[in-house]
Amino acid sequence: MEWSANSNLKQRLDRIHDFMKRLARPVRIMEVCGTHTVTACRSGLRALLPDNLALLSGPGCPVCVTPADFIDRAILLARRPDAVIATFGDLLRVPGSLGALELEKAKGSRVRIVYSALDALELAAKNGERKVIFLAVGFETTAPGIAWVVRQAAERGVKNFSILGALKTMPAAMAALLSAGDADIDGFLCPGHVSSIIGTHPYEFIGRDYQRPCVIAGFEPLDMVLAIEMLLEQIVSGRAKVRNGYRRAVGAEGNRPARAIIAEVFAPADAEWRGLGLVPGSGLKLKKRFKNHDAETLFPGLDVPPGVDDPECLCGAILRGRAVPSACPLFGRKCTPSSPVGACMVSAEGACAAYYKYCRCGGIARKELFSSAQRGAKADRCGL
Ligand code: SF4
Ligand code: SF4
Repeated sequence: MEWSANSNLKQRLDRIHDFMKRLARPVRIMEVCGTHTVTACRSGLRALLPDNLALLSGPGCPVCVTPADFIDRAILLARRPDAVIATFGDLLRVPGSLGALELEKAKGSRVRIVYSALDALELAAKNGERKVIFLAVGFETTAPGIAWVVRQAAERGVKNFSILGALKTMPAAMAALLSAGDADIDGFLCPGHVSSIIGTHPYEFIGRDYQRPCVIAGFEPLDMVLAIEMLLEQIVSGRAKVRNGYRRAVGAEGNRPARAIIAEVFAPADAEWRGLGLVPGSGLKLKKRFKNHDAETLFPGLDVPPGVDDPECLCGAILRGRAVPSACPLFGRKCTPSSPVGACMVSAEGACAAYYKYCRCGGIARKELFSSAQRGAKADRCGL
């Protein structure tokens, strides 16, 4: 089935309700990407879905899955008198065991917000007396740009530029969720941005090895409705394939030049995820030929103990699809976007921040996608 501008939302929702009646059991769909969580919350989509169809957040926000010990290593580097940490703004408030980078900055450490890895490279080129370390977090969407900048640094001989790497790849994390055994997931809405780089093939093993369907979904509410319908169609008929519900942006092969530069600069490596732990082969590490731009090679002694999170914080369970934000005792009380306790409340794509902003009970559906009668009827029914 193809998306068409004339597709009728009501018909699609009716089909979703019909599928759920035929299944006559609860279905749990993971919206892997944080942007999908935001769309679902902001549009009020959950309120239009059958009661026994749950949309769960997943590990698809790069800030949320960055573990506390990465922040601790960045803080140790920020404390060096010869260093400048260059980072996306979101990471400043992510708590590590040693605090947050925001606090280090306030105490006088050199921490600069940049909008791209290229900004960090230019900062290094203009400040030869300091070592500029870029905090490289993100998924397959961010990795090509960072790879290009590392190659630029090598070609231009900018020796004082390095990255502290925490880049991750998404399909391996989805497999880790399923093989951990505690995840109760019937299907995945695959992230559209990541898929535009990697294409459809890297998800095929999920159907083959784990018998779970995957549908690549765009980020408009109607894209999500289409993708949910495509997932249910498979679940009802017992199929488990990867299908593409976002053809206007994603091709089967993805973006070949982007994949080529990732492969040129990075090699697969094990990676630590907040909530998932160490996931084999789910990270990207600089290849040996770029070791002069690898902060972990240049600054030995960055070994830190595993990070300790607030014992009441449920971020780990939320990132595994085992809890919803409002189940956390700190949600909206001790933990808010202006005073986050856990990573999921920091980023705009974090599940807790999205629920806090758009989706607390009593504060439903700000966007005018759905009628107020529908919204009112469902406002208490998600059980959150
Ligand atoms: S509300 Fe805060 S403390 Fe609780 S899970 Fe979310 S981010 Fe963690
Ligand atoms: S009941 Fe509240 S938390 Fe649940 S979907 Fe509606 S607004 Fe969001």
